[in-house]
Amino acid sequence: MSRPIAVYVHIPFCTVKCGYCDFNAYAGMDALKPAYLEALLAEIRANAPLLEGRTIASVGFGGGTPGELPAAHIATVLDALRNTAPFAPGAEVTLEVNPGTSSPAHLNALRAAGVTRLSIGAQSFDPAELAFLDRIHSPEATAATVAAARAAGFTSVSLDLMYGLPGQPLERWLATVRAALALQPDHLSLYALTIEPGTPLARRVERGEVTPADPDLTADMYEAASDLLETAGFEQYELSNWARPGHQSRHNRAYWTDADYLALGAGAHGYLAGERYANIDHPRAYIDAVACNAPRGPRPALAAVTTPPHPAHVADWLALRLRLLEGFSPREFEARWSLSLEAAAGPVLADAEAAGLLERSPRVRLTRRGRLLHGELAARLLAHLDRTLPRAAPAAR
Ligand code: SF4
Repeated sequence: MSRPIAVYVHIPFCTVKCGYCDFNAYAGMDALKPAYLEALLAEIRANAPLLEGRTIASVGFGGGTPGELPAAHIATVLDALRNTAPFAPGAEVTLEVNPGTSSPAHLNALRAAGVTRLSIGAQSFDPAELAFLDRIHSPEATAATVAAARAAGFTSVSLDLMYGLPGQPLERWLATVRAALALQPDHLSLYALTIEPGTPLARRVERGEVTPADPDLTADMYEAASDLLETAGFEQYELSNWARPGHQSRHNRAYWTDADYLALGAGAHGYLAGERYANIDHPRAYIDAVACNAPRGPRPALAAVTTPPHPAHVADWLALRLRLLEGFSPREFEARWSLSLEAAAGPVLADAEAAGLLERSPRVRLTRRGRLLHGELAARLLAHLDRTLPRAAPAAR
C-alpha cells in the first residue's frame, strides 16, 4: 500500500514586504516568476524518486503570497505533481491568498486548477491596523474576496487574523473577530504578532517608536477570542486554529503529527523519514541551484539537512502533538519511540498536571490554561529529555 505524503510548495513573491514579516518573501521580483515556475517543475522531476510509492494526501501553497503566482502556474505545478504521484481521494490543496491581490477571475481559475481550500490573509478588519501592518488591502477587500471565493465554488475558506498588535485594545480585537465571523468562514487561524529580530518593525521598537503589546493583554485577547469562536460553533483543534466540523486543515495536521512532507521552492522546509531539510532561500539562487543540480537527482536546491539529536526529536514530537487539542495517547508515544512515556517525560508531565496545565488520562492534552503556556512546557520537556535520553536513537521508525 502506498504511504501518504504531504507536499509544501513555497511561493516567495509579495507585492509589498510587510514591516513585521520575517518569512522568506520578496517584493519586486515579478520578473522571476516564469523562471521560478520552470525551477519548480524541474525540482518535481528531480524529486520523483522521493514520491515513488507515495500518495499525495495534501498540497499546501504558502509563501510569500502564492496567490500572486498566475493561476496557470499553479495549475501547471499541480499537473506535474499529479503526473508524478497519485493524489489521495479528496486530497486537500490549500493556497494562501491576500485580499488585495485576488480578483474573482483569479479565484475562479484557482478553483478550476484544483485548489480546494483558500486561506485568506485578512489579519485585521481595522483600517489603521492594516496600515500599521503594511497590508495593502482594506476590510472591504477581505469581504469581497470571501464572497468571490464562495462564488468560485470554494467550500472551505479560512481567514488569518492577528492580535497583540501595539496599542490594540481588547475591544478592537474582538471587533475584528466579530467582523470575521460575520463573513461565515469555515476556519480561522489566530496569530499573536511577534516582533521578529531584523525586521523594520523590530527596528521601530528599538528606536522607541513602537511599544510592543502587553503579554497579559495578549493572553486576554486569545482567551476572549476563544470564547467568541466557541459560542459561534467553532471547535479549537490546535493552539492557533479553529474550524467548523469537517474543516480542519488536513495539510497543516501533517506538520503536527510527524507525517512526511516534501518541500518544493525557495526556502521550503521538508521532513522525510525523521530528517529535516531546507531549500536555499533566495529565489534567484534557488533557480540557479535547481538548474545546476536537478539532473543529479532529488533535492537539487538543498541548503541544510538535519537529523535532530534524539532528545530534541522526541521533544519536538511531544511539543507538536501538544499543539493539537486532542493531544496523544501514551501508547502512540510508545509506538513511535519504543520508550515508555512515564520513563521519558513522567516528572515534567506530572508537574504540569499538578500546575493545571495538562490532563494525562485518557490522553495527554493541554488544559485551557496550558494552551497559554505551551512554549514554556515545551522548553521544560526539551531540557529534561536532553538530560535523560541518549543523543542517538535506536532505529524506531
Ligand atoms: S504578505 Fe505575508 S509573506 Fe508577504 S510580506 Fe506580508 S506577511 Fe510576509
